[in-house]
Amino acid sequence: MKTSKEVFFWNTLNKAKREFVPLKEGEVSMYTCGPTVYNYAHIGNLRSYFMADLIKRVLLLNGLKVKQIMNITDIGHLTGDADDSGEDKMVNALKRENKALTIENLKNLGEFYFAKFKEDLEAMNILFPDNFIFASDETAEYSRLIKDLLEKGVAYKTTSTIYFDTTKIANYGAFGGSASAEHGRIEVDPEKKHPEDFALWKFSEDEKVGFNSPLGRGFPGWHIECTAMSFKYLGKKFDIHTGGVDHIGVHHTNEIAQAEALTGENPSSFWIHNEHLTMKGSKMAKSADGFLSLQKIKELGVSALSYRYFLLTARYSTRVDYSTEALKASDTAYQKVLNAVANLDTREGIVLDTYRSKFLDAVNDDLDTPKALALLWELLKDDGISKEDKKATVFYFDEVLGLNLRNAKKEGVVISDEVRVLLEDRKKARAEKDWQKSDELRDKLKHLGFEVKDVGEEQELENIK
Ligand code: AMP
Ligand code: ZN
Repeated sequence: MKTSKEVFFWNTLNKAKREFVPLKEGEVSMYTCGPTVYNYAHIGNLRSYFMADLIKRVLLLNGLKVKQIMNITDIGHLTGDADDSGEDKMVNALKRENKALTIENLKNLGEFYFAKFKEDLEAMNILFPDNFIFASDETAEYSRLIKDLLEKGVAYKTTSTIYFDTTKIANYGAFGGSASAEHGRIEVDPEKKHPEDFALWKFSEDEKVGFNSPLGRGFPGWHIECTAMSFKYLGKKFDIHTGGVDHIGVHHTNEIAQAEALTGENPSSFWIHNEHLTMKGSKMAKSADGFLSLQKIKELGVSALSYRYFLLTARYSTRVDYSTEALKASDTAYQKVLNAVANLDTREGIVLDTYRSKFLDAVNDDLDTPKALALLWELLKDDGISKEDKKATVFYFDEVLGLNLRNAKKEGVVISDEVRVLLEDRKKARAEKDWQKSDELRDKLKHLGFEVKDVGEEQELENIK
């Protein structure tokens, strides 16, 4: 029995699904565009890291080694990143938090949100990359690459900025399709030659935000940061680059332009992008209303892993609209899975080949997690196999699903807040001898998958599948 199979991903570069073959046999190099640490991550951002985690878990399950790098942007990401306008997001955040602009405060701000970010990753069972790289630690790399770009004649200096000259690249923007619509306005800087040109280095005499560099005192542009970090830690050609679809038109288009100017080729074999998490149809954004952090989800009485389950119900490449109801439905389903797994109170047997094969077919096919979840349910309900083998196979699935199923505890029936409230209401209705209400609540609980038995004044729950 082969325990690995061909893996396919949708590659934004080819606008097609392609078989994934690493550049170096058995080893995968992967760059994940990380957060700008000026605020908590919202649950949309976390979808992006969840996708990268799935990719990594699937590759590991197929027996490959994975080296993953993630940047932590703590300087150089401007509020208007499409046209290099506005203020540094970190500097802005200090104002928001009523803190003085000092080097120490900037550092503390970055470290605070980075720590929160790591807590979020852990809560969602997202595997950490091999390295988190802070953008502010790599100044020497930016200077080197920018000097090279100036020497090659693809960059030019103005009074305020060193720009990348996008007209020097054949097919600039081809990657992102209609990229130019997202790009900036020329009037932001009259010395800028073309609207699409973007900042590699911004000159700044401000001793609190910039760095000393052979280029002159200043700070890097956001795009060159990712090129420099990926080159330094993964080499000039690596296997996979990940990020959200909003990065295709500008950020990744610009990373590709920089790399092509420096090396003559696209830096990554595969570019994999997650679709957005929306709320009432609009993209969740850090700056907009409706920003939901993982903390807010927890306040609803729903765990971070229930949110992971919610994300697994859709393929990473489709838009998902968040609602409390949809999240709670996932929470209920996840609790049922936990309960079913907890009931497998036996030793671990062997992973069943047929299920292994079907599972790999699903996840290797561009991360078809809805299919993988359906298979998990099929497995849990399968009465034709031993409890031992079922248990081993469930844990095999969980290597990718990441639902912490090994920790499912037999603590009676695991219930959500919604179920708890219904039970309390029913207890009250029975005490008041409101039998009609009590029966209605029994039906509601049944609808959620629970049978209630009345034992004296107490109510006992049983899972019904
Ligand atoms: P940022 O910290 O803004 O650079 O974003 C971090 C990651 O989250 C990037 O890969 C974005 O493309 C991604 N992202 C931003 N908003 C959303 C969203 N609403 N849904 C999914 N991914 C998103
Ligand atoms: Zn990036």
